[in-house]
Amino acid sequence: MCGIVGYIGKKQAAPVILDGLERLEYRGYDSAGMAVYDGSRLQIAKSTGRLNVLYNHTRGGEALPGFVGIGHTRWATHGMPNDVNAHPHVNKSGTIAVVQNGIIENYLALKKKLTDKGYEFVSDTDTEVLAHLLDYYYNGDPRKTIIKMIGHVEGSYALGIVFADHPDVLYGVRKECPLIIGVGKDEYFMASDVTAILKYTRKVVYLNNLEIAELREGGMEFCTVDEDKIEKETVTVDWDVSAAEKGGYEHYMLKEMMEQPKVVRDTLSPRIKKGEIVIEELAMTDAELANVKKIFIAACGSAYHTGVTAKYIFENLARVPVEVDLASEFRYRDPLLEKNDLVIVISQSGETADTIAALRMAKEAGCRILAIVNVVGSTIAREADFVMYTWAGPEIAVATTKAYSAQMAALYLLAMKLAKVRHYLHGRKQQAMLNDLMKLPEQIELLLNNREEIQRIASRFIAAKYVFFMGRGIDYAICLEGSLKLKEISYIHSEAYAAGELKHGTISLIEEGTLVAAVSTQPSLYPKILSNIKEVKARGAVVLSITTMGNIEIEKESDYVITLPESNPLFFDSLAIIPLQMLAYYIAVGRGCDVDKPRNLAKSVTVE
Ligand code: GLU
Repeated sequence: MCGIVGYIGKKQAAPVILDGLERLEYRGYDSAGMAVYDGSRLQIAKSTGRLNVLYNHTRGGEALPGFVGIGHTRWATHGMPNDVNAHPHVNKSGTIAVVQNGIIENYLALKKKLTDKGYEFVSDTDTEVLAHLLDYYYNGDPRKTIIKMIGHVEGSYALGIVFADHPDVLYGVRKECPLIIGVGKDEYFMASDVTAILKYTRKVVYLNNLEIAELREGGMEFCTVDEDKIEKETVTVDWDVSAAEKGGYEHYMLKEMMEQPKVVRDTLSPRIKKGEIVIEELAMTDAELANVKKIFIAACGSAYHTGVTAKYIFENLARVPVEVDLASEFRYRDPLLEKNDLVIVISQSGETADTIAALRMAKEAGCRILAIVNVVGSTIAREADFVMYTWAGPEIAVATTKAYSAQMAALYLLAMKLAKVRHYLHGRKQQAMLNDLMKLPEQIELLLNNREEIQRIASRFIAAKYVFFMGRGIDYAICLEGSLKLKEISYIHSEAYAAGELKHGTISLIEEGTLVAAVSTQPSLYPKILSNIKEVKARGAVVLSITTMGNIEIEKESDYVITLPESNPLFFDSLAIIPLQMLAYYIAVGRGCDVDKPRNLAKSVTVE
């Protein structure tokens, strides 16, 4: 998810790599490293922490002389952030060095195979298998070896590779993760995005999935995994550095919203194997899981909202009682925790103070703790009994979007797994649900592509004083998140209401022109929400409905309608939240707000 920089040419490689990595710092990372060929062997330097540690350690790159090299900033996904797990990773003889961004999904199976063949592993990463796999297939021809290796690897990745016995070539390949080639005069660069190389060149080649780049001082070549040569176009980019950092998007928040199809796919797909949900991280037997009497969920902010949705799903699907709490309440309310209850704590950063306190309290009470977190090696990840990582990558915008979506995806898997072991889900029903689950990434993409329509609607409500969100059941949980998104970045006050509650007070606030966003995705509740829409319309509200296709009545009553593609009703949070995130985003942009850094807010709340 983070940074790759490679160089081959007449300059010293290490300073170029360090400089490029520094420009990729915004992507977030926990450790950094590089490998440079010094004329006789590959020299490696790596260190945990900020890049300046690596910089000082290598005296600004001077300690690693040479004209070809690869560098990496790591955002740990497999194995703690530490010096050993930092990239590059090498084969035993140190003649092949590889850096990787992304995830190798079948690394455990590959690791086993290689261990059986006598390979020894020093790190906990998924990446190290690539170095040994390359070693295993190496026949003196790096290109053929890389192709062979790719054939055995599953996942999404971008790789930079150097071979000590072919030091005149730098190799790059990608699948789903970004990697671009920079074209200089008798020099070539490789990087996760153009920001890293803009200082040296604006000429860029965009690699497509499974295309292999071979860069030599005298030229570049590209081929497919069938070894067919391909001609690639070199384009000149005219982005400035800050546009490049955001991948051409105006804000990190928009970039991160657009990444949601990928992060949902990355969170789901490694955990679905041969039509079954496999959560290796949850080291409980099926019988233990089936015997869980009660589940508590504790989290803060948006993570809490995923918990509210999860309660509906877990109880509906797996028939297990769930209590969901704000972590700051949970820790002080003296909940009736029993030994062996399952407590799920959810946090993007893994450092949320109240959630850590909730975790420790539940642990003390003898509960088993499952953490859903994004940051590997964070406090919550270390202290929980089991960790399910969301593969969202670093999130820069303060208002969460992609981490939220990844948490939701992890919770679906968990709910289905629980339902399965408790015998509520099997056969056709399970298959149909899995199909719907796997369709979510492309459906999210579809909704994201519809953003002009939301932008148009948003432009009407830039001057709104307050906004109401209403829904029932899961739709109420979606409203909680939609409302939080809007208020945190646009500073418009908003409230989420369980639609049935409106009459108990709030409806008095509805006046001519008040925007009410009504979420209705649950077929069993359509007639109810329809009545609520009529009630607010009668008092002058302007209604924006987020609903499923074919709800003619709801469409007729609403002023604006966003329709969602078909899915299992339990999965609609992931779809309905997309237009609501975009509504918040475009309203905030229209009001001239600092979308990525809203006032008074911090990305990770490490104080109580
Ligand atoms: N999955 C790899 C690791 O944990 C690479 C992570 C990254 O993209 O930086 O080492």
